[in-house]
Amino acid sequence: MTKMLTPGATIGILGGGQLGRMLSVAASRLGFTTHIFEPGANPPAGHVAHRVTTAGYDDAVALAEFAASVDVVTYEFENIPTEALDLIEATRVIRPGRRVLAISQDRIIEKTFLNDLGLATAPWAEVTDAASLDAAIARIGTPAILKTTRLGYDGKGQARIMAPADAPAALAAMEGAPAVLEGFVTFSAEISVIAARGADGAVSCFDPGENVHKSGILHTTTVPARISEGLRTDAVLIAARILNALDYVGVMGVELFVTPQGLLVNEIAPRVHNSGHWTQAGCAVDQFEQHIRAVAGWPLGDGARYADVEMLNLIGDDVARVPEFARQPRTQIHLYGKAEAKPGRKMGHINRVL
Ligand code: AMP
Repeated sequence: MTKMLTPGATIGILGGGQLGRMLSVAASRLGFTTHIFEPGANPPAGHVAHRVTTAGYDDAVALAEFAASVDVVTYEFENIPTEALDLIEATRVIRPGRRVLAISQDRIIEKTFLNDLGLATAPWAEVTDAASLDAAIARIGTPAILKTTRLGYDGKGQARIMAPADAPAALAAMEGAPAVLEGFVTFSAEISVIAARGADGAVSCFDPGENVHKSGILHTTTVPARISEGLRTDAVLIAARILNALDYVGVMGVELFVTPQGLLVNEIAPRVHNSGHWTQAGCAVDQFEQHIRAVAGWPLGDGARYADVEMLNLIGDDVARVPEFARQPRTQIHLYGKAEAKPGRKMGHINRVL
């Protein structure tokens, strides 16, 4: 039997953005307290957490104190420095575990892991300089996308190569960082599976959602995705296979391309995911509660979908439309408490029950 954390216990969360905020709310509902560790000032999660430590990931004293004050540690983003994880793991369990972070922090390690599991990805090749880029283009062809292997998100650190002549500019955009060239996938849809695995090994996947991106940032997620029953099953099996292979505990987002040849895995995110926000309106137990349950050693909840939902991200000035959304029926509004609506900044989202 896995030990269940009892209400009153404290969950430490690395990262204080909107995901940490919604995890804190879910944890509070289950009777836990949360402690956020975040380098930036005034983090969105800090408004709803019980305690915040403002310190850098290189602050060994702050990390040790943080670890000592919590019962278990989880995170809301994957780019936590290895040394910080070492310090925390000296005294506390981190869920999901270390291996998935090493994998998801590096696109090449991630694609190798997925391909070794027998899962298909876009064709890819490692790129370190002009010669390896030319060789990669010769093998994969164009159009293609060059991506930095590390620290990319929301389409950042990416350059399109429409023809071989675009190669030097794309390489320059990587600013000397190691990169991976991916063949451009002509997909009929982008979907994602938000999947959870409990400490007891039980797996529960939310229904796949269909994602639309704008300028590399998620715009909407709609459930149900318009895919066949066969693909729906494939998507869930792929996610479950990844979770089991990693002995994963927590919620993961698995992004997939729907192609005529079947599903290709785009990337995995070892955390709650923007494309899973619809679960707040579509399921009895949403992705945030599911993650906290897993991390706390509780049985997973019922993630069956009971409504059709569209999630719309409020990016930058979109947040000015909140009064309009507030008048709409069957619409849930989630705002992240960010002061300034900068372009490209995720300010909130709405879930519309269809
Ligand atoms: P990523 O940061 O890798 O998830 O990429 C962000 C978005 O860019 C994806 O959700 C897709 O819409 C698009 N994209 C990324 N890689 C590819 C690819 N190999 N082929 C086609 N579109 C892609």
